[in-house]
Amino acid sequence: MTAGPSVEPSAEQLRTRIPADVLALCQRLRAAGHRAHLVGGGVRDMLLGRPPADFDVATDAVPDAVLALFGHTFAIPTGLKHGTVTVLTDAEPRRPVEVTTFRGEGDYLDGRRPSSVSYVQSLDEDLSRRDFTMNAIGFDPVDGRITDPFDGQGDLRRRLIRAVGDPVARFREDGLRPLRAVRQAAQLEFEIDPPTRRAIPQTLDVVRKVSAERIRDELFKMLGARQPSRGLRLMQETGLLGVVIPELLEGIGCAQNRFHKHDVFGHTLAVVDETRGDPVARLGALLHDVGKPRARQPKDDAPGEFSFFKHEYVGADLADEICRRLKLANADRERVVAMVKNHMFFYMPDWTDGTIRRFVRRVGGSAGLADLFALREGDVRGRGFGEDPDGEIGELRRRIAEVASADAALRVTDLAIDGRDVMRILGVSPGPRIGVILERLLDCVLDDPSLNERERLAALVPEVAAQFSERTGPPPARRPS
Ligand code: ATP
Ligand code: MG
Repeated sequence: MTAGPSVEPSAEQLRTRIPADVLALCQRLRAAGHRAHLVGGGVRDMLLGRPPADFDVATDAVPDAVLALFGHTFAIPTGLKHGTVTVLTDAEPRRPVEVTTFRGEGDYLDGRRPSSVSYVQSLDEDLSRRDFTMNAIGFDPVDGRITDPFDGQGDLRRRLIRAVGDPVARFREDGLRPLRAVRQAAQLEFEIDPPTRRAIPQTLDVVRKVSAERIRDELFKMLGARQPSRGLRLMQETGLLGVVIPELLEGIGCAQNRFHKHDVFGHTLAVVDETRGDPVARLGALLHDVGKPRARQPKDDAPGEFSFFKHEYVGADLADEICRRLKLANADRERVVAMVKNHMFFYMPDWTDGTIRRFVRRVGGSAGLADLFALREGDVRGRGFGEDPDGEIGELRRRIAEVASADAALRVTDLAIDGRDVMRILGVSPGPRIGVILERLLDCVLDDPSLNERERLAALVPEVAAQFSERTGPPPARRPS
């Protein structure tokens, strides 16, 4: 566990940590006769000595007054329904700060999000509709005054996530809150206060109503934590995982073989923690073995052991389904699915340069490789035997670099035939098409260098030309970038 700050900052110290542009924004509201309090994650993070992700300001000024004060160039009505105006500060580059009118709890008719917004007069009322005590602290940077009606500072000191008010009632109002609790527990490496934690299994029906997009955003933030397993374990224990990615539960108690200390689920969590990459790569790690339980077969020749033949394909299909359900962007989904599908590669020293090239192509070029290597490194470290990941992929990495640098040296002019040959074979006159055909031929040669002979290339020309004339767009990039 990382230690919290031993001495928490005083209000005066806090004031000196506020960036000048954020302070100026608050001063401007104050000068116009309004109130201005920093609230939410920005205050929480500064009290913890962590860099804040963003700053939010709560004010008694209504959105129209905020818009008038900052002008339409620098104040954008991003969430008028929620009383929010995004003000761009005069920092370089301009920093967006959400300025929200003091709000009460709207009527949560369906547990999804407030169906209406009511403005309230006081900061205290605004703070009382916030989710957790640590997120319900206000700080007026002009007066240097902290407002903390629910002892959020005490909970920060105790490293506890605690609902403001009755946890079951608060979770019933908005089913995203249980997910925010586990996500923030993972990010901050906090515990969830027992009554708040106990409220999660009681409110899963409300979580089920939350939109896939909001769930996805929480999941991604959780996967960005140092150890996402903290949140994933909590999700499993509280039932949230069964709502969000129930397929992963199949790995609990799913034993593997003597090379693995953990069941599939335990192994997966260890790999996620050890995979270095963005949340999309971490999601690929989370799902890399999702097909294992369904593909598991007892081994005839080894009692008590199992094979997982083709689990990567079973897993890729499941991963595709899961990513669609979570409404990932297409490019992110494709990355995740490619990681799952391609993770079972085993380099052998007898791989030829052609095998290397085909492998690189199959996994989607250098971007796909980076994801796969991050996953494999995570896998090796996650096995927990202290092995060096380089032992497993170092040689393959070096071979790929060698082949790529040799290929980069290869140009169209290195081909065994030239543009005049192409024109002669096709009976056509000069034009841009000739260059494109030569590029395509080079592509073939990169795949299979033995093709780079006059006769063999000449024989390929009509085929390549026909492919190109059928194509509507330009040919694909020659080499994975
Ligand atoms: P992050 O570090 O991810 O920005 P955050 O706590 O600041 O975490 P935001 O989504 O930026 O989260 O929300 C800002 C503040 O708004 C929160 O700190 C909390 O006070 C309040 N809030 C956000 N979402 C909810 C919610 N679903 N229910 C109640 N209050 C919420
Ligand atoms: Mg925030």
